[in-house]
Amino acid sequence: MKSMIPIVIVGARGRMGTQLIREVVNSDDLALAGAVDRTGAPGMGEDAGKLLGLPEVGVRLTDTLRPTRGQVVVDFSLPEGTETNIARCLEAEASLVLGTTGFDSSTIDKLKEAGKTISIVSAANFSVGVTLLTKLAALAARALGPSWDAELFELHHKHKRDAPSGTALRIAKAVASATDRTLDANMLAGRAGNHGPRQDGEIGVAALRGGDSIGEHTLMLLGDGERIELSHRATDRAIFAIGALRAARWVAAQDPGLYDMADVLGLASLS
Ligand code: NAD
Repeated sequence: MKSMIPIVIVGARGRMGTQLIREVVNSDDLALAGAVDRTGAPGMGEDAGKLLGLPEVGVRLTDTLRPTRGQVVVDFSLPEGTETNIARCLEAEASLVLGTTGFDSSTIDKLKEAGKTISIVSAANFSVGVTLLTKLAALAARALGPSWDAELFELHHKHKRDAPSGTALRIAKAVASATDRTLDANMLAGRAGNHGPRQDGEIGVAALRGGDSIGEHTLMLLGDGERIELSHRATDRAIFAIGALRAARWVAAQDPGLYDMADVLGLASLS
């Protein structure tokens, strides 16, 4: 009999969490092993399948993450809980697929440290298309050089809390790294008022919010007399869940390490 990969979903009542549970329940190689949400979330203690109008899956919604060895925790919740969730995965030697965005540099340090012991895939965007766009952005920026002006805009639904999006930061960072720049020194997030002319080497990022947009990112590379635009538009939230579960299948078989979606897709060495 085929062995199933046990998956624990954190943020189980959220937009992403519910999509992930549906994908897991409908797959033939993944098994739902846990469903976690915040204390006081609606449906606590009820069957995670039944909550979504699916047949019962025998897994009750809980507010405490308690993974076991060999399970893959897929966390799409809020950054406040990320460090605790990393610690729980470490204690249990469970793998982690981290989709939550908006966490700070102290959490990144914790992830790097944890990656010495357990296998982790962390990505600001689990879409295969965005992963490729990020790689194309780096290739284009390197080929064109920093004299081409890099400007990025992103659009997301009105509920999104963090800005610029984790994906926009990732694309901007790919452009910066490919041209020996850094985000700290070169990124300008939003322009208003009399800020003067554009500085050489600047990487501009603009965040738009509204409606139900799942996520759009466009990188413009502007030269004198010509311009390149690299765009990705997400039209179905399922792409993130499908990508995250592709990462879950992959990470279950990896040695300890902190990986990203480019590793999962085998794009990491492309330069
Ligand atoms: P959402 O608000 O619909 O869902 C978040 C869920 O997490 C809610 O059910 C909430 O109750 C729960 N939650 C909050 N704190 C928690 C805690 N401490 N422990 C457990 N559960 C907790 O949000 P969403 O649209 O599903 O997005 C969730 C996260 O995933 C956000 O950070 C978002 O930016 C990110 N996201 C990432 C990707 C990607 O590809 N990496 C794609 C989409 C969304």
